[in-house]
Amino acid sequence: MDQARVVATWQRPGEVAAQVGWERFLATGDLKDSLESGLAAAEENPDFLGIGRGSLPNSDGELELDASIMDGRTLDLGSVCALRGILPCITVARMVMERTPHVMLAADQARRFAMEQGLVPQNLVTEEVVRRYDIWRQDPVNGARYVHSTDDPPYEPPHDTVSMMGWHAGHLVAASSTSGMPFKQPGRVGDSPIAGAGIYADDEVGAAVATGWGEELWRAGASLRTVEFMRAGLSPDDACTATLRWLLRRRPGCTEKPNVVVAMNNQGEYGACSLGCEFQLWVADASGLNVKVYPDSLETF
Ligand code: ASP
Repeated sequence: MDQARVVATWQRPGEVAAQVGWERFLATGDLKDSLESGLAAAEENPDFLGIGRGSLPNSDGELELDASIMDGRTLDLGSVCALRGILPCITVARMVMERTPHVMLAADQARRFAMEQGLVPQNLVTEEVVRRYDIWRQDPVNGARYVHSTDDPPYEPPHDTVSMMGWHAGHLVAASSTSGMPFKQPGRVGDSPIAGAGIYADDEVGAAVATGWGEELWRAGASLRTVEFMRAGLSPDDACTATLRWLLRRRPGCTEKPNVVVAMNNQGEYGACSLGCEFQLWVADASGLNVKVYPDSLETF
């Protein structure tokens, strides 16, 4: 498949998502199947603290999951937010796209819809999550620094949202799945399930995904802005850089947390820019599964 590529964000869950997603694409030739499978595999893995089963909860100790998927050919879109006790969250987002006339369902009613579609509620909170939640609850200011790493400390920033893009002969799909910001206020929704903020895809131009501080990326309309920079003629790398430069200019405080934008044009060329941390992007294509590391751009901006 020379004319195809799948990318996924972040070191550990991104590897799983890209590998499973690519295998699925080779088996079916369908980008939506590919991204759904890749994200579902990451959601099911209890070791990943930012997505699905075993991810870090809200301040009540409950998991509230967000996911979205967008088809660049039709602009079809499906998303769910604040979904509790249902996996795969990305499958529910795809069901919203394919089985309802809407683009988003939220919270309890999203859960009810998922159950009507045959998904069975389950407990996604693992013992490890409870342990980390207790650390945080005892000391919300300092505890949060230590609950995300598998070796406590050193501190590992909590940014395991997995965002993916798939490209096949000019066609693009974007998708994302996350448990959102750790210990967030119950009901809080970030950028990941919001088209234009966390994901966007338009086959006329390309696709983009964002991950990091959801409130800032949403304010920026980061994914749509990046696609529109590509429409204006910028390369994927330059479009991502332009979006984060804009964000930094308008929101200088955005550097309190890392922010990343990734883009792919309809020729399959991809790029990324990261502000506030080093960033790993997994790329699966005919040459195999490879990770590309992007440095923190903060020093050079
Ligand atoms: N952007 C996600 C959110 O704010 C979190 C992340 O990307 O790590 O919900």
